[in-house]
Amino acid sequence: MADTIFGKIIRREIPADIVYEDDDCLAFHDITPQAPTHLLVIPKQSIPSLAAVTDADSHLLGHLVRVATRLAAEQGLEAGYRLVVNCGTDGGQTVDHLHVHLLGGRHLGWPPG
Ligand code: 5GP
Repeated sequence: MADTIFGKIIRREIPADIVYEDDDCLAFHDITPQAPTHLLVIPKQSIPSLAAVTDADSHLLGHLVRVATRLAAEQGLEAGYRLVVNCGTDGGQTVDHLHVHLLGGRHLGWPPG
């Protein structure tokens, strides 16, 4: 599979502001934040998108969401937050390595653009 910028971050080949790491995932600040808190939670396993996940990835997906909700609490997002996973071109995905956006710290409009 093609390498991505997130693969380079996992391997520490390029810097990132990392806030959490465990055996299966990494979380760091988005380089172009769209809200006062904007973190990305990514699996270390290189899965290109939601469209590529299988039943075998179910536990990992739950783990990514749980890590994101723990980080939301740590970041003090008591007023709420949003988790976003963009998938494919129409979904607005620009990096082909599965990632969960954690956005918070301001009121987020709906529907998204
Ligand atoms: P997507 O559009 O694929 O859902 O989200 C990709 C996200 O990765 C974007 O919000 C973008 O700002 C972020 N991003 C792209 N390149 C880098 C990088 O080199 N470092 C960090 N920290 N974030 C990045």
